Amino acid sequence: MTGTATHCPYCALQCGMTLRSVGNGAGDADDAKLTVHPRDFPTNRGGLCVKGWTSAELLSSPHRLTTPLVRDNRGAPLRPASWEEALDRVAGELRDLRRDHGPASVAMFGGGGLTNEKAYQLGKFARVALRTPHIDYNGRFCMSSAAAAGLRAFGLDRGLPFPLSDLATADAVLLAGSNLAETMPPVMRHITEQRERGGALIVIDPRSTPSAAHATLHLQPSPGTDLALANGLLHLVIAQGYLDEDYVAERTSGFDAVRRIVSGYWPERVERITGVPVPALREAAGILGQASTALVLTGRGAEQHSKGTDTVAALINLALALGLPGRPGSGYGCITGQGNGQGGREHGQKADQLPGYRRIDDPAARAHVAAVWGIDPDDLPGPGRSAYELLDGLGTPDGPRGLLVFGSNPVISAPNARHVSERLDSLDLLVVADLVLSETAERADVVLPSAQWAEEDGTTTNLEGRVIRRRRALDPPPGVRTDLEILAGLAERLGVPGFSPRPVEVFDELRRASAGGAADYAGISYERIDATDGVFWPCPTEQHPGTPRMFLRSFATPDGRARFSPVRHRAVAEETDAEYPIYLTTGRVLAHYQSGAQTRLIDALVKASPDAFVEMAPDLAIRLGLADGELVRVVSRRGTATGRATVTEAIRPDTVFMPFHWGGDGRANSLTNPALDPTSKMPEFKVCAVRLEKA
Ligand code: SF4
Repeated sequence: MTGTATHCPYCALQCGMTLRSVGNGAGDADDAKLTVHPRDFPTNRGGLCVKGWTSAELLSSPHRLTTPLVRDNRGAPLRPASWEEALDRVAGELRDLRRDHGPASVAMFGGGGLTNEKAYQLGKFARVALRTPHIDYNGRFCMSSAAAAGLRAFGLDRGLPFPLSDLATADAVLLAGSNLAETMPPVMRHITEQRERGGALIVIDPRSTPSAAHATLHLQPSPGTDLALANGLLHLVIAQGYLDEDYVAERTSGFDAVRRIVSGYWPERVERITGVPVPALREAAGILGQASTALVLTGRGAEQHSKGTDTVAALINLALALGLPGRPGSGYGCITGQGNGQGGREHGQKADQLPGYRRIDDPAARAHVAAVWGIDPDDLPGPGRSAYELLDGLGTPDGPRGLLVFGSNPVISAPNARHVSERLDSLDLLVVADLVLSETAERADVVLPSAQWAEEDGTTTNLEGRVIRRRRALDPPPGVRTDLEILAGLAERLGVPGFSPRPVEVFDELRRASAGGAADYAGISYERIDATDGVFWPCPTEQHPGTPRMFLRSFATPDGRARFSPVRHRAVAEETDAEYPIYLTTGRVLAHYQSGAQTRLIDALVKASPDAFVEMAPDLAIRLGLADGELVRVVSRRGTATGRATVTEAIRPDTVFMPFHWGGDGRANSLTNPALDPTSKMPEFKVCAVRLEKA
């Protein structure tokens, strides 16, 4: 029995798996049940985490939606409706809003888990069918700071500009703000090999995470101080004679300004800012400086800050000073989080972007994409609002009054979530396409049941920039449509041609639209992906082999040189004080994915991680009179959340940690600060000031 070769629906590792039917093709219920078998793919090497193993359960879950739901008025409950009624209602209200208030009165919100075809089609639908500038997505909350810093330094953003397998051969790996052992366990196969070869792993994290347990050296800075730490490491790299002067002279620009700035980050000062002891700083600089190949990797811990772009830039400065980017076996990379976090940020569901990683304010880009879409470039809207700015403006006098949400659950995943929920409730029209009744769908006027990953074809682009195939293993249940079919149905009702429901046709159009752009997919086809383990972009022609390693000869800047960025440490947006004396940092757990809308419905995952918790140091628990397992209320200036106290030595005494996968009282994002990074518009998820109370 061969089964269907595909990839996990969850994180950006996109582990290879094979789906096999339980049934024998007799047409009974077992035919609709699939089992998951790990597949030996270059990223996961035959491994899966518990989320991947259980991913097929949701396909036959009683919780999934199988009919559209509509609400007759704001006070009425959701009731089942036919597709004709639901789509007619959505199209009619969109038409009315646009007529009465203009095209910018409607908006779209997408997701970093959607396939490339869907991300592309959402961007096109917003600009061509709705003519609105307002489309953004939850990937803005994920790795946008790393993307902005990568663009600034290298002229191009690709999460890992090298294959993941380089991890196994690097002499040193610096992992800043990523807990791979818990969020992407199969990656540890590469790290274990690296450690067995004698390689060193340095982990930067305020918590003693499972990843830190594997480290040669764990640096445990205070939340929000990674930028100072990176500048301090660069100071020491220069002082200890590890600067790669030839590389800096031949392949970079702007080093002198950075050298002047980091001269002020002497070790004792950095220890005062970060709490990381001077000997550990020196040891880290020595490990990196003496390695003949090294990788500097960032995750959300370094990126989700109001200075996330500058923090990543400081870590890229460190990598450049060591001569790493563009050298085989070495480099800088961002560990993308969501399933299609990479492809989802390339093809037009971002507010400032057109397909192929083109800018929407670039006249040549507008002309190219408008020609593919068969419209006048002047009819393309300009840039819209970034994700939080978009949500924050919903229902306000100059903000959108109607919103279509695909593949996202902002009621749980957006910062300052209580406020975001209020903004959603103020809309004239909220439409949510999802496979289950998520917390956002519960508030919608119209809910459209959509197909799951194993029920449709498509492509994703994994954390390495490798374009891979998701393959249809079975039909969606009766009453369920794919997102592409939903968009085609709406476009038809709006009288706008050009929206195919067929993934391969959408992908072929995406190839034309991306041709000549930074993320050029023109030479990638379903057939080529099927014949290989995926194709790395850029791949401009069908004869081009794809680009596993980037920047080997030059960077994508006008002069071909990588750019240093002169960046300084600054305080977090909300410091602790007498009223809110503790830092809160948020993150993930192994058993759940993003807002948990899917994983909270899978028994084994709920059993492994049933509800929200608040991780705190023993000293803090004693001070508050809290015992392990007791309920604790966390209070910030924006709201409250409750969880079980988990007392552990793994966290600093000035900081508590909450995972963000739950709703209701356990919603960590009721607390988080929406202060935005000025460049990436990333909210400061990773640090805010709170106080704790017995619940
Ligand atoms: S969630 Fe990520 S690490 Fe786990 S199986 Fe899926 S792709 Fe692999």
